[in-house]
Amino acid sequence: MNPDCIFCKIVRGEAPAAILYQDEQAVAFKDIAARAPVHVLIVPRLHIPSAAEVTEEHAALIGHLIAVAAQVAREQGIAQTGYRLVTNVGREGGQEIFHLHWHLLGGRQLRSLG
Ligand code: 5GP
Ligand code: ZN
Repeated sequence: MNPDCIFCKIVRGEAPAAILYQDEQAVAFKDIAARAPVHVLIVPRLHIPSAAEVTEEHAALIGHLIAVAAQVAREQGIAQTGYRLVTNVGREGGQEIFHLHWHLLGGRQLRSLG
């Protein structure tokens, strides 16, 4: 728990969010500034600043987060058409919130990263 972290507040129920899924380890909620018809953030309850701080000890947790993302994608109706699952790391990676999260984006054709 980082008292200054907005995602820590959301997972603790201390800040509002449109939560789509939650369990003991993970929470999925709608991005406040959606950039696609489906734009969901999947976060661990544990405060890890970014993927750069992930260690082997987090392996099961990371696998769980990906499975949660796949389940939310099915529930949101984008599993068949496809989607993007992305985590930004650091300033040049475009990271704004330093609590590990995956963006689940879908519901429209996403441009190639190239
Ligand atoms: P990043 O740039 O760190 O990869 O992504 C952070 C994401 O969090 C952005 O897409 C931004 O719109 C979203 N975001 C920032 N603050 C809040 C908030 O208070 N609530 C929700 N639901 N999303 C937020
Ligand atoms: Zn946090």
